[in-house]
Amino acid sequence: MPAITRRKTATALVGNVRIGSDAPVAVQSMTNTDTADVAGTIQQVAALHRAGSELVRVTVNNDDAAQAVPHIVEGLAKQGVHVPIVGDFHYNGHLLLKKYPACARALAKYRINPGNVSIGRKDDDNFRTMIDCAVENQKPVRIGVNWGSLDQSLLTRMMDENSRMAEPLDARDVTMEAMVVSALQSAKIAEESGLRHDQIILSAKVSGVRDLLDVYTMLASRCDYPLHLGLTEAGLGMKGIVASTAGLAPLLLAGIGDTIRVSLTPKPGGDRTEEVQVAQQILQSLSIRSFTPQVTACPGCGRTTSTYFQELAQQIQTYLRESMPTWRKKYPGVEELKLAVMGCVVNGPGESKHANIGISLPGTFEEPKAPVYVDGRLMTTLRGDHIVAEFTKILDEYVETRYGKAAELAGVQ
Ligand code: SF4
Repeated sequence: MPAITRRKTATALVGNVRIGSDAPVAVQSMTNTDTADVAGTIQQVAALHRAGSELVRVTVNNDDAAQAVPHIVEGLAKQGVHVPIVGDFHYNGHLLLKKYPACARALAKYRINPGNVSIGRKDDDNFRTMIDCAVENQKPVRIGVNWGSLDQSLLTRMMDENSRMAEPLDARDVTMEAMVVSALQSAKIAEESGLRHDQIILSAKVSGVRDLLDVYTMLASRCDYPLHLGLTEAGLGMKGIVASTAGLAPLLLAGIGDTIRVSLTPKPGGDRTEEVQVAQQILQSLSIRSFTPQVTACPGCGRTTSTYFQELAQQIQTYLRESMPTWRKKYPGVEELKLAVMGCVVNGPGESKHANIGISLPGTFEEPKAPVYVDGRLMTTLRGDHIVAEFTKILDEYVETRYGKAAELAGVQ
């Protein structure tokens, strides 16, 4: 498979995570707890990190939230969780960072929205105040432009200039251009104010897939800052997952994007870590990074009238998810493992041969047996009522033999 050529960028260090250039595309997420609720926020940050989030953003929207931040970072450290915490600021970030220096020190990065930090002002003084705090504390920033809160004075000026042109551009194109200009001008001001070039990450979030592709392609061609990718307000459930994947995949395949977030709206009481799982799955499906063993399962059809193979695929997926926290530490490289669980012999043996371990279950009217292939060779044929248990035993032995040896050589305990 041809390698993806990543866009060359500066490399920013956010806490202990490198963002940009040849560093792995980092997965990040954002809490939806009230940041002032220290215990609740610690719990959610830890869960997001356990799920694989390499940076976690929290909103810092008022005095209580700013005061809570150092306690959150400290509480996480006590639990052995050292994930970088990013502060998300809007409107009053300049006031909060100045008023609460402990918050400014505890955060690993500040997210600044240039469209609303200096709202109602003719100068960029509030933006500069935030940059001064970043310089003083040697923190990187993400300059995050969002079309829902784009600098209105810049947009109005550019729209006016456009209307005076002989062949005016479409309003949508002017908006995309204004987002790029806002991000780049703000980055320039940040550097003039003393922030290093490699302490800046940019994002330009929109909620439409085609807009996302265009604005990031433009941004990528005009700077070498690392880029944070994400479709803003992606939405609920399947719509959010599909739209995020459709937006992020072409950019990532073109080598654009150094850190990603999938902004899913969870169901009430839903699992916030789903956004991390989706982000990881996008990267893994594109063969950019590996996080967890992959199961290829056929969709089933009229040849398999029972749900047995769907249940088996589900049970194996659950077994993998539950085993991974231990396996990840014990068996380096196990995330590359590929399994196939197929519904019948039509594609079963073929697909199984492409996986490390594959099983094809009997279809309707087929002989009740399930051939198991290991590294492309028929290893055994399972029969009877204990196929799942026997298959997971084969899986465990394979993992131990294949990845345990590598761990031994690498001195993993
Ligand atoms: S592998 Fe068999 S059961 Fe699965 S979709 Fe193909 S023909 Fe149908």
